[in-house]
Amino acid sequence: MAAEKKHIQKEVVIIGAGMAGLTAALYAGRMNLRPLVLESGLIGGQIANATGIENYPGLPGVSGRDLIAAVQEQAEGFGAVIDEFDPIQRVSLKETPKCVETESFVYETDVVIIASGMERRRLPLTEEKKYAGKGVHYCELCDGHMYQDKVIAVMGGGNAAVDAANFLTKYARKLYLVHRSQLRADEISREKLRENKKVTVLLETEIKALHGDSRLERIGILDKTSGESRELAVDGIFVNIGVSPNTTLFKDEIALAADGRIPAGEDCRTAIPGVFAAGDVRQKEVRQLTTAAADGTTAAILAEKYLANRKRGNVLW
Ligand SMILES: Cc1cc2nc3c(=O)[nH]c(=O)nc-3n(C[C@H](O)[C@H](O)[C@H](O)COP(=O)(O)OP(=O)(O)OC[C@H]3O[C@@H](n4cnc5c(N)ncnc54)[C@H](O)[C@@H]3O)c2cc1C
Repeated sequence: MAAEKKHIQKEVVIIGAGMAGLTAALYAGRMNLRPLVLESGLIGGQIANATGIENYPGLPGVSGRDLIAAVQEQAEGFGAVIDEFDPIQRVSLKETPKCVETESFVYETDVVIIASGMERRRLPLTEEKKYAGKGVHYCELCDGHMYQDKVIAVMGGGNAAVDAANFLTKYARKLYLVHRSQLRADEISREKLRENKKVTVLLETEIKALHGDSRLERIGILDKTSGESRELAVDGIFVNIGVSPNTTLFKDEIALAADGRIPAGEDCRTAIPGVFAAGDVRQKEVRQLTTAAADGTTAAILAEKYLANRKRGNVLW
């Protein structure tokens, strides 16, 4: 028979140790709330592997690793406990206390700050796994430098894809942008791409297959207009076909927005009292490090107010 899980009482549990979750932990720790941060993977989230971040105020060129290490140290210095590689099995958010259950523990808590961020959508081809990191990439800032004077293809047609393509032209000898319909990116980015002689844009074109021995050597593409299939020789591809918010765990507890994010305003309060959404997981227009840090700040400060009000018998949200 499986052993009974140990129940642990907390005031604040934070889900996710990216910029939003770590900032919330820093603030909550500083207010003596002894927050617990549960992270299913590696601490740091999306920015962990980025090389030179040019737009974080006051720290030009800082690497994702150094920035995250500094915020983690600050949060732990204020008493936050960060539990890495501890996947959450289920949550129950509507009642108080709320429950967050991992393999070994059930955490009972008054406040949950959801800061689980998002992930890039994977290429829906069975061979994708075989070539991941060996020609198939998702982060141009992290891996682009591996393709100096090589042939690159970028998949996707939104702003992120076109910006990635523009960025990668600094390394590529030749770059293809492959998209299954028309480009949706802003005109200014499209214009920049069109002006670059290294670039060929293939619209109404779908990627159908990946080929190569130990690493990617060619991609199979289908021209949807002519119906013609052919192969392109490439050294690497960068996939930019959208993102998925990490909200599967919450879908039975919170009504999610159409894009899968958690609806919450600038105050980060969700529809459930005591539950906040911070960072890229929150439904909002601008998703950057600074906005993730801002959300973490807001959620932690309003969490402290919520807890203080409850102690005074005022349960208003
Ligand atoms: C390649 C790249 C480069 C970027 N460059 C810049 C830049 O230069 N400047 C800038 O401002 N922004 C940049 N961004 C955007 C920026 O990284 C994000 O806006 C920001 O990191 C979002 O932080 P977050 O904490 O909300 O989410 P995330 O960074 O996504 O962190 C969420 C964390 O939650 C964890 N998690 C998910 N689900 C669970 C679960 N069920 N249980 C426990 N933990 C969970 C994840 O493992 C992750 O660690 C970049 C993004 C990428 C991908």
